[in-house]
Order: sequence, then structure tokens, then C-alpha cells
Amino acid sequence: MKPGIKLEGKRVLVVGLARTGVASALFCAARGARVTATDEKPEAELAAAAANLRAAGVELELGGHSQETFLRQELIIQSPGVPAEMACFVAARAAGVPVWSEVELAWRFLRGRLIAITGSNGKTTTTALVGHILQSAGLPTLVGGNIGTPLISLVEFSSDATLTVAEMSSFQLETIAAFRPEIGVWLNLTPDHLDRHASFQLYGQAKARLFENQTEHDAAILNADDAETPRYAPTGPRVHWFSRQRRVARGAFLREDAIVFRANGSETVLLRREDIGLRGEHNVENVLAAAAAAFLAGASPSAIAEGVRTFAGVEHRLEFVAEIGGASYYNDSKATNVDATLKAIDAFPGNLLIILGGKDKGGDFTALREALHRRARLALVIGKAAEKISEQIAGAVPVEAAGTLERAVRLAHEQARPGDVVLLAPACASFDQFENYEHRGRVFKQIVRSLTKPSVSKEKAS
Ligand code: ADP
Repeated sequence: MKPGIKLEGKRVLVVGLARTGVASALFCAARGARVTATDEKPEAELAAAAANLRAAGVELELGGHSQETFLRQELIIQSPGVPAEMACFVAARAAGVPVWSEVELAWRFLRGRLIAITGSNGKTTTTALVGHILQSAGLPTLVGGNIGTPLISLVEFSSDATLTVAEMSSFQLETIAAFRPEIGVWLNLTPDHLDRHASFQLYGQAKARLFENQTEHDAAILNADDAETPRYAPTGPRVHWFSRQRRVARGAFLREDAIVFRANGSETVLLRREDIGLRGEHNVENVLAAAAAAFLAGASPSAIAEGVRTFAGVEHRLEFVAEIGGASYYNDSKATNVDATLKAIDAFPGNLLIILGGKDKGGDFTALREALHRRARLALVIGKAAEKISEQIAGAVPVEAAGTLERAVRLAHEQARPGDVVLLAPACASFDQFENYEHRGRVFKQIVRSLTKPSVSKEKAS
């Protein structure tokens, strides 16, 4: 049984009014809570949300936060974009006001079983894949969380039979209380978000909270090949491992060309390696994790194999864009940290012209040197981090400062030979030159596709 929470009549403050915050505020208001919603941004920037919230009877405090308002509450809901260490949260907690992330609130109301997936990289791919497998298996499935729809907005669609697959970020897990997924998947832990988490250890501890409330009725799925996560293996739930490298006592592993699930001494072949259409060894890890989760959730091996076979991948993750003059162009705009970029480089045999750079998140780009040396012919650097990257990879690969993405693609195009791969896998966030990584990926695709058309000057010349 989940611990209940009565919202009726409760003073609830929702902090952060992007999509998740707005949905949370409306959810609480609809259940009779006395809701206040606050955001740093002024009303002018939140006009549509503000109007919606007011119409639902939500009181607004915009253009900043007042500590007094925080202290007056009985419950505070934190949106994932708002830092947990903000002074007002600290004061509220010290005064005994519970501060929950939206996923805690959603989980208390969500019906059915929950599969929650976290990790530094691969969350979205694995979440989408598990969702796709369960849907193709004919099971009633919802997909959301950090991917697409906030968990709180899925509540109304859930029933006791529903399987909800949710992507969880470290920021969402940082402020859970009783949150307890029936199946928890932790893919890997590599440095990321060190600009927001005080240390690598605190980042790891935030992710480890995924398993914190699980019991022996629940399953935890962890990566046996990962350097960091095994030491966070929990003692509460049944632990399952996944491995590309060796047989595991319980969980999923690769045996020659088969993905095998082992439990209680017996082994079941779930699918063949050739069923995996996604590129790169990291995606074999994602498939191992997804197959294990789907099997534990009740999907049959044939449904799992079929689901993996028909999964097209997710936009902006090693997404094939076009072949131009014999060179292939790939969009991995979602490679916003060094490890994801390493995985992207490793997914190709060589001859890479790689575009790196953007907003630095405290990454150590020297970690790219060896892979670049082996696989890349040229690195084109862009954005704010360009200089730091150039310095840190100098000597490992020829580097050219391109400034903008547009110029980088054009320079790559000029120098690409048949058989080369032009890869956007920038190892940085995008916010210096783009709205977000999706925007960066879309712009990249547009520029690449424009290369396939004759330019105006060429048309005139011919
Ligand atoms: P997340 O949601 O955790 O950011 P995504 O599935 O969106 O994960 O992938 C993010 C980036 O990491 C992409 O560049 C992708 O190619 C890469 N990636 C995907 N899976 C893994 C993995 N298991 N290990 C390392 N990198 C991965």
C-alpha cells in the first residue's frame, strides 16, 4: 500500500512553472488544495500559464520567491528545473515543511505498477524502448516522467492494470520521500551536471535514491559492467544485473549472439543480438536493461524480440540524417556530456569528422583524446567551450575552430570524403547558441539537408 496524501484543504506551494510545475499546481487545485505557485520569472514571461492557473484558483507569486510564503505551507512541490539547495527550500525544510519533487506527488496517486529508469546516459532511449516493447506486447502502458509528459499528467490515465514507464533524472530523485517503483533501472553513472550537483558523489547518491524505498517485492536492475553503480547496489529489493561482458547470477547478459535472462538457476533466451537495430555497444546495454525490465514486467521473449526489432530509436540520439557525396551525417545532439560523446565515437569504425562544443558543464574533454586519436580525422569546435576543448584535445586530432554549427557543418562538408562520417556529438549543453539540444539537433539536420540541394550561386552559375 502506498502512503496516502490528502490534498483537500492543504496549503501547497508549487515552485517552478514550466510544464511540470503547471501540471502539478492544477492537479493539486483540482483536488481541493489551497495552491500557491511561484516562479522567478515575471508574469510577462509566463502569461499563458498564469492565466490558466488563476482560472483554477491558484494564487501566484511571480518574479521571485518570498521565504515567508515557503514557511506558511504544509507541502512544497519542487519542479525538476529548480535547484534543491535554494535558500527558501532549506529554510522550509528546517521549519519542518516537506519538500517533494513532482514525482513523489505523482507516485502517491499513480495506479498500477511503475518502472522507473535512471542513469547518466541512455535514460530516454531505454525508457522509450521499454514503453515500445510493452505496448507491442499488448500491455496497457504509459510512458513519461523526464521524457515528454510529466508523471503527474499520467495519473488520470492510470488504472490498476497499467504499467507506467518513467524516466527519472537525478534532480527528480533528489527530493523523493516514499517513492518506490516496482522495477527500478539504473543504467550507468558518469560525470554530468557537475555544475548543479555539488560533487560526483552527491550526484551518485541522488540517483541511488531510486532504490531507497524498495522492498523484497520489488526489482532493482543495475549495470554489472559500469565502474560506479555496482557499489550502490541496494539491499532491500531483489537485485538483477545486466552485462555485456559476463554471465550474471540473476538478470540479463550477452551470450555469444543471444541476450539471455537468468533467474533461479534457469536461463531464457529473450532475443538475438541481430534483433538490435540501434548502433553502438552502449545501445546493447540499453537493450539488455530494457529487455530485463520488460521481462520482469510480464512481456514474453517473443514480444521483447519483436519490440526491439521494431524500435526505430529516438530523435537526436545517433540519428542518421543523410548521405551526401558518400559521407554519412549523424545527429547525436543529445550527447551533452563527455561519456555520451565517447559512446558515439565508439559506435563508428573510424573516419569521423566530429563537431564538438557548446556550453561546458564542467566536462573533462581530455577523456576524449584517445578515442578521437583512434577514430577521428578532424574535430570542429564551436560555441563557448571551443577554446577549452581545443586546448584539451590538442595533439590527439587536428582541430579547427568553426565558431558556429552552420560553419562547422560546411567545413566538414568541404573536407568529407566518401566513407567518412560527419557526427554532431558535442559533449556540451546547447544553451550558449540554442534553445536546447532538440533545437540544436533540428538546426543541424536543416543545415545538412540544405547541403543536398544546389545552392543559389551554383544554380545561377549553371
Ligand atoms: P538520457 O535520457 O540519459 O540523456 P538518451 O537516451 O537521451 O539518454 O541518450 C543521451 C546520449 O547518450 C545520446 O548521445 C546517446 O547516444 C548516448 N547514450 C545512449 N545510451 C547510452 C549508454 N547506455 N551509455 C552511454 N551513452 C549512451
